[in-house]
Amino acid sequence: MKFWAGETPNESIKLKHDYVMDSVINYYNKEDPKINYKYKKLFLDNGAFSALKNTNPNKSLLNKEKVLDVQETLKPTFTVPLDYPFTPEMPNSIMRKRWLETKSNIEYWSDATKLDLVPALHAWDSNSLENNVKWLYSKDFDYISLGSILTAKDEFSGFFGDRQPSKAFIDSIITSQQIANKFDMQVHIFGFGSSPIMYHIGAYCGLKSTDSIGYKRKAAYGKIILPQKGERYCGNGEAKFGINTKGDSIENFLNKDDMNQLENCECPICRTQPKNAKIRWDNMRYDWVKRTHHNKWVMEQEEKIAKQFKDDKLEYEKFLNTTIGKSGLKHLWEYTKRRINHYKLDLLY
Ligand SMILES: [Zn+2]
Repeated sequence: MKFWAGETPNESIKLKHDYVMDSVINYYNKEDPKINYKYKKLFLDNGAFSALKNTNPNKSLLNKEKVLDVQETLKPTFTVPLDYPFTPEMPNSIMRKRWLETKSNIEYWSDATKLDLVPALHAWDSNSLENNVKWLYSKDFDYISLGSILTAKDEFSGFFGDRQPSKAFIDSIITSQQIANKFDMQVHIFGFGSSPIMYHIGAYCGLKSTDSIGYKRKAAYGKIILPQKGERYCGNGEAKFGINTKGDSIENFLNKDDMNQLENCECPICRTQPKNAKIRWDNMRYDWVKRTHHNKWVMEQEEKIAKQFKDDKLEYEKFLNTTIGKSGLKHLWEYTKRRINHYKLDLLY
């Protein structure tokens, strides 16, 4: 599964990216929109989700011509026609109406631009999920992104937008992917790759790509990511992070296995240091830029690992059993396997 590293408007550090995810929202009010970092490929989200969170959900404050203008100016590798996500409070009738508007934008974009489009799929129940995927298929799209998906009626815990690791969330991913598979379509989920564990769960479910800004945000909050695990504290104990660090030492935050991973980390930051967990941990404690580089590198290795197992699901499963299957989120991994291997699509209807 492809990992797109997310960028933010915070340009205090400039990373070099192979694959980067950015959003129209970061350029929407700029007179002369320009990308100020290096990249190979750019996936540009349309900003609808950020706009939804910040404004009255009943009307989008984004102007569609202006969104398209920014997209045309920045010329991303992939971009998303302006869509209208749902919030849990919306009645079905409003969701339907918003999907109709989303559809009309998808058609508008298809006519107006030659950019590669990855339209957002929204659904308010199982039927609309299947119908809406079919509609996208009929418009010749083979790469789509998941927007707000409700797979079971009144099942708001599975609401996309919350994006907390939960069984309901995994359900909506698996169901969407299974339906997309029927039409040979590939699926992108925004913001799913914030931890190695969720990333691998997504890859195992057959998702084509995800992105996350989590590696950078975690670094800013004094956290480092460890391979096939989650985050560990590696900060300087500033009070604003709310952690009492009196007498803090590496042993309080990393167990033996964690330390072993850090000793063997080959990221551009750690490999300049001796193979000693404490030295490497100290090296990153006072520098969030170093943590950012470490975290980004770890996520990119996860992508390589998932790729290695691309054609051998059984081996991948074995590998994940011995890694994420021993993590704090192992119940989600076990649930994912059960859902994929034992529930067939037709049982969901
Ligand atoms: Zn490292």
